[in-house]
Amino acid sequence: MHEQSLIRNLVDKIQGLAAEENATVLAAKLRLGALAHISADHLRDHFTQETQGTALQGLRLVIEEQSDIHHPEAQDIILESLEFRANDEQSAP
Ligand SMILES: [Zn+2]
Repeated sequence: MHEQSLIRNLVDKIQGLAAEENATVLAAKLRLGALAHISADHLRDHFTQETQGTALQGLRLVIEEQSDIHHPEAQDIILESLEFRANDEQSAP
């Protein structure tokens, strides 16, 4: 299933970045291309499924839906930014 592997890749990428930063990911912002052929809700469902039982479970997912079909990345789901909390930080939320 193409979309599932696509989202798994995205989750892998986020986990890799979190490991590099030695940080916990609090939130991820994604940009959903107009021609990505997946709805934000459906993307969210897959994301929840892929992160279940991992360190990313429960992170806040912000999905920005694009409407420009002529955008060079219109077919893609782009990881725009991540919000981290450093693992050695002691301040409680
Ligand atoms: Zn699906």
